[in-house]
Amino acid sequence: MAYPRLVSNMESIKYNVREISKMCHENGIELVGVVKVAKGEPLLAKTYLENGVDIIGDSRMQNIKRMRKDGVNGPFMLLRIPMMSEIEDVVESVDIVLVSELETVKKIGEVATSRGKRQKIIYMVDIGDLREGVWFTKAVDEIVESSKIKGIDLYGIGTNLGCYGGVIPDPDNMRLLAKIGDKIRSQGVNFKVISGGNTAALYMVKDKKIPPSINEYRLGESLILGTDTTNNISFEFLKQDTFTLEAEIIELKTKPSVPYGRIGRDAMGRVPVFEDLGDRLKAIIAIGEQDIDPAGLIPLNKGIKVLHASSDHTVLDVSDFDGNLKLGDILKFRLTYSALLRAMTSEYVEKVW
Ligand SMILES: *Cc1c(COP(=O)(O)O)cnc(C)c1O
Repeated sequence: MAYPRLVSNMESIKYNVREISKMCHENGIELVGVVKVAKGEPLLAKTYLENGVDIIGDSRMQNIKRMRKDGVNGPFMLLRIPMMSEIEDVVESVDIVLVSELETVKKIGEVATSRGKRQKIIYMVDIGDLREGVWFTKAVDEIVESSKIKGIDLYGIGTNLGCYGGVIPDPDNMRLLAKIGDKIRSQGVNFKVISGGNTAALYMVKDKKIPPSINEYRLGESLILGTDTTNNISFEFLKQDTFTLEAEIIELKTKPSVPYGRIGRDAMGRVPVFEDLGDRLKAIIAIGEQDIDPAGLIPLNKGIKVLHASSDHTVLDVSDFDGNLKLGDILKFRLTYSALLRAMTSEYVEKVW
């Protein structure tokens, strides 16, 4: 068997998908299941669609094309506002595309018209997080204008919070988005959805605090990990044992806890900080910054602590582990979203679905 490897637990993933889709549908919310953290794995997308997800979302055109090729029927939503250079592909393979620039929408309209199609768009509104979207004070005019472009079908408006600025979605900023929707509709422009956001906004559905006009959610992290990084929570009604990362011990030695010699910067340009705990038993596992975010590696065994990593080595303090470790032993970990993203992306990590 090849290590490191990332082993999925499809039963727990299915459980999360069913629970969340039930909760969304009971609240009149359409569910976009986001698979970008798994590089758009077709097996995952199929599982999502079979267990209640309405639309598959991904941020990369390559992933959507691969899913289509591998027999996932969609519908597909492209989450990252498109590059001018990929608009032909968007019109070809994407059912709904998020947008934030009139110039891009015009190009989309032209390409769609030339193919006898109309392209569905969701116009993004920035209500504070400073990532994509027209700033909320200017949103109504720009979105009304986009809806009049030939070849364009305004499917909805949406927002994304908690990703760049870390702004927490709450009933107030959701009402702000809903109000923008009302103003657009009052100008005779109709559309189907108000897409309220991502995992950071899910707690409002659970706690019944979501304004009723928010009728679409785009969810990634909560489905696949049962967690919400922005609000720093693990959802009690979901499962977190969806993935296990396995890595092999390649060195096991007792060494000081503080380096010997003058300290410069580490392999990643950081100045490492050490606490002097005397001599400790350390294990090196064959995985590194190229494959994981070491801060997001959560040991499954008690008494194991992740200390630090360079590109290919991760050093653990295993002094407090109750048991005997030896070279070649496999250690297991849970992952945070950022560590999972990197593990999925690293071609050196074997995936077991
Ligand atoms: C990634 C992404 C999502 C999903 O976010 P999660 O926090 O993983 O739920 C939703 N919308 C957009 C635009 C995204 O890029």
